[in-house]
Amino acid sequence: MARTTLDGVTKRFESGGDTVVAVDDLSIDIRDGEFLVLVGPSGCGKSTTLRTVAGLETVSEGTIRIGNQDVTGVKAKDRNIAMVFQNYALYPQKTVRGNMRFGLEMATELGDDEITRRVEEAAELLDITDLLDRRPRALSGGQQQRVALGRAIVRDPDVFLMDEPLSNLDAKLRTQMRTELQELHDELEATTVYVTHDQTEAMTMGDRIAVLNHGRLQQVGTPMELYYQPENEFVASFIGSPSMNLVDATYEGETLALDGFDYALTETHREQLSSLSRGDVVRLGIRPEDVELVDEPGPRTTEFTASIVEPMGNENVVHLEHEFGEVVATIGGSQVVRQGDRVRARLPADHIHVFDGGSGAAVFNRTRTEETAPGVIGGGEAGGGSRAAGGDAP
Ligand code: ADP
Ligand code: MG
Repeated sequence: MARTTLDGVTKRFESGGDTVVAVDDLSIDIRDGEFLVLVGPSGCGKSTTLRTVAGLETVSEGTIRIGNQDVTGVKAKDRNIAMVFQNYALYPQKTVRGNMRFGLEMATELGDDEITRRVEEAAELLDITDLLDRRPRALSGGQQQRVALGRAIVRDPDVFLMDEPLSNLDAKLRTQMRTELQELHDELEATTVYVTHDQTEAMTMGDRIAVLNHGRLQQVGTPMELYYQPENEFVASFIGSPSMNLVDATYEGETLALDGFDYALTETHREQLSSLSRGDVVRLGIRPEDVELVDEPGPRTTEFTASIVEPMGNENVVHLEHEFGEVVATIGGSQVVRQGDRVRARLPADHIHVFDGGSGAAVFNRTRTEETAPGVIGGGEAGGGSRAAGGDAP
């Protein structure tokens, strides 16, 4: 296994007289044995990035290293990588065994016995030994994806490259395969670059996550770093579900002025926001699970009208309307709010983020305490958990 480094990688495509910059000056250092997830919206350059590492695309600029070797000019077949795609691309007329052997027979000098050994070992690992003599059409989607993984594993590559490998599976199987892939990774300790557009997949699978937008790296960090310390608005809203609330505000020194609500800043806020000038336009961010419904008026508390209530069982997702815009709150499943209700909600001082109104860069990120660090992440798991730590600052 090997460390993999992208240094200033840029990929331009010429198409119909136009230049598309698919990957723009991308630098990432993927550690030996790490599971790195590359995530971002459709068209942001994820597949192109992976293909440059595989050697399926040349780079326009920059350097790619695998282990100690500069592989920038090395052909795909001479890079010791294995790629797994969304479409399994199995040979229909070959058996599972035949599919798993084929790459090794064609591209390596390995003897028959060694190939047999590797195929059987990988089949065991993936729990597909029973399927070795079947043909792909006799397999379910999940089984076919396991075979595609098996074909990658037998190559014993320096790096696994996976491009949305679970996208063709139904939701339940996808969740199961996520867990299996992680267990496999723990076992093989293989350096893996995993591409997905799904932030939940990224959050649950990645040792670290690299967020891309328009071919540019937005941030790379652990799931918790991205969740609690997003470096910009794009990362803040892309990571987490429902998305972070972001509302326009003006910095007024003592307060953030929102339409119809003056948000009182604490001493800590004021220190952290000292680079701002009065009148600067900012965006106030707060995650849905951090919005707190309260009975009494108080600091950083204002009144909303509930416009939509989505019961999820374990929690309710409530859309709250205010002069300054909409705020989504996730509240406990047993807390009753009805459409049209007037409700009071507090935006706790230690849970807000402030972003620059122009560049979108984070000026201030919420406090991250030991209690908030583990457990509470995006997707369905969010909600309620962090509220215990939400004591308001004076
Ligand atoms: P993603 O995998 O994140 O959805 P891609 O890497 O496939 O994104 O594409 C990034 C951008 O590069 C898109 O704008 C896409 O249209 C463009 N692109 C990808 N491949 C080619 C190509 N062979 N020729 C021209 N443009 C391409
Ligand atoms: Mg893609």
